[in-house]
Amino acid sequence: MDPILAADLERFPELLADARDRAVRALAGLATRPVGVPPTMPEPAALPVEGVGAEGAAARFHQRWEPGFSGSAGPRYLGFVTGGTTPAALVGDWLTGTYDQNAVSAQDSSAAELERETVRWLGELFGLGGHHRGAFVSGATMSNFTGLAIAREWAGERIGVSPAESGAGALGDVPVLSGSPHSTIYKALSMLGLGRGAVRLVPTLPDREAVDVDRLEAALAGLDGRPAIVVANAGTVNSVDFDDLRAIAELRERFPFWLHVDGAFGAFAALSPAHAHLVEGIDQADSVCVDLHKWLNVPYDSAVQFSTRPDLQVRIFQNSAAYLGLPGENPDFVHLTPESSRRLRALPAWFALTAYGSAGHREIVERTVHLARFLGERVAELPGLRMLAPVRFNVVCFTLEDDPTEAAVAALAHALAETGELFLTPTVYKGVPALRAAFSNWRTTEQDVERVVEAIARVRA
Ligand SMILES: *Cc1c(COP(=O)(O)O)cnc(C)c1O
Repeated sequence: MDPILAADLERFPELLADARDRAVRALAGLATRPVGVPPTMPEPAALPVEGVGAEGAAARFHQRWEPGFSGSAGPRYLGFVTGGTTPAALVGDWLTGTYDQNAVSAQDSSAAELERETVRWLGELFGLGGHHRGAFVSGATMSNFTGLAIAREWAGERIGVSPAESGAGALGDVPVLSGSPHSTIYKALSMLGLGRGAVRLVPTLPDREAVDVDRLEAALAGLDGRPAIVVANAGTVNSVDFDDLRAIAELRERFPFWLHVDGAFGAFAALSPAHAHLVEGIDQADSVCVDLHKWLNVPYDSAVQFSTRPDLQVRIFQNSAAYLGLPGENPDFVHLTPESSRRLRALPAWFALTAYGSAGHREIVERTVHLARFLGERVAELPGLRMLAPVRFNVVCFTLEDDPTEAAVAALAHALAETGELFLTPTVYKGVPALRAAFSNWRTTEQDVERVVEAIARVRA
């Protein structure tokens, strides 16, 4: 054994204790670390030939890279939709690396069964009613990809071809109808060979991002019975608007389409009795996408995909090397997801759900939604700023009162980031350049919102 590696093996417990101390300091420093600023880059370094051991590597990391890391795990990083890491989720993540299970099959470990239990709990949490199967993937992008892959195979089944066997070309055009699809829907369609151009935007309701179901119905009627995919949105990123899932699902009685629901973060409405109506009908979806590294506050990367047709899923993702076994009644994950070897991503989520339960996660959802409302009220009072949409859920979308050009909004976002107090991301809402503040971090409090408001007021003064 390499002597440096051998020395690390000798000192493994001390090295972990040192890593623990570093993690404790990093977490304590979250409150003071600049939330998100343009990173400073260290001098380039050559590939080490003789290593420095784990302790030396940790020291170099802290010297060269750590200072440029953002406070994105902290309470005032309101860009994109960004969760943090609850204590139990982090413990679960450390142990994921420690046990280093390959959650590919159930041949030699109970790890895959733990994943099944976690997926089942999540299905219950999101009100899916028990008839969906699912698996962990790396993020909502891959969850959308998986759902749309199954939709593609379903469309093939309708016309008697298997795109998984014969390629997407055998299928012809498959229209993908949606009101306000997330950018990753286009990315997934590109990867699937259906093409970004397959998206047919359906008009939304007036002043809303939710699809106009009557217009959707008319678009479906215009397809003359050709199989289609409908991507319904449960939580759009700018105004967190929800399509009427129940009404859309009912259209399937008259038109052949696969209903995919992108509930990346909006699916968490199911946790709050006051908001659960927003996702009513989600149990009727053929496939559902939910991100976990957002509102479940588990570390990157983690999401879950659900579908009602594991048989079609196996056709697409089967990896039938003889030693892996052929997919049977209860297919191994290797036959269900884009990856083959895969990290036991379920473990941090299992820890989070076991530690805090649905009640603890409901509290996070309800508190962060309350905080978004609170910020919305405060922003509306600030001179020179204008709300672009009501705060429907956990995102505040606002812009400059006068001349909100893209450059002016970008300059404001930059100036806010420079304070180190908060981080927001620019967007365009109904053609107007704007800023978004998205709440989903478990640590955020009213005091944090006060600090955010003060920083915005200071920058605008
Ligand atoms: C975040 C998000 C995605 C993409 O999620 P990743 O985890 O970044 O892959 C897709 N759809 C919606 C609605 C999202 O909010």
